[in-house]
Amino acid sequence: MNSLENFLTTDEEQEIVSAIRMAEKNTSGEIRVHLERSTSEAIDSRAKYVFHALKMDNTKLENGVLIYIAIENKKFGIYGDKGIDRKVDSNFWNKTRDVMQKHFETGAFKTGIVEGIKSASGALEKFFPWETNDKDELSNEVSKGEV
Ligand code: CA
Ligand code: CA
Repeated sequence: MNSLENFLTTDEEQEIVSAIRMAEKNTSGEIRVHLERSTSEAIDSRAKYVFHALKMDNTKLENGVLIYIAIENKKFGIYGDKGIDRKVDSNFWNKTRDVMQKHFETGAFKTGIVEGIKSASGALEKFFPWETNDKDELSNEVSKGEV
């Protein structure tokens, strides 16, 4: 049931991509979602590893944010690059995590991810407003598998 390919339906995946695209219309920050089957590592260190493996540190303002989900572990982590992490208060990531957790507990994974994107983009908008020459520095597609 909970395989990598059917964790989200195609429609749900497209809703997530749309949410990222919408969020990035208001901020120079870059948000990505990555799904992995499982991990034996601590979720936050795995999220950090995946962030770097996906070369998400390759943004001019160091304002990439990764939502990483290990589906069999039913766990997720959020990792923000140095630029954003310097700006937000430490509670911010916890708030975003809580918003997602609430939906994940009821099995509403897509909604949880979309709400997480909205929460993260709220902070990104505030500290990294959209600029006229903005580039889409990181893909908006949901990526999957081992990295
Ligand atoms: Ca951008
Ligand atoms: Ca992007």
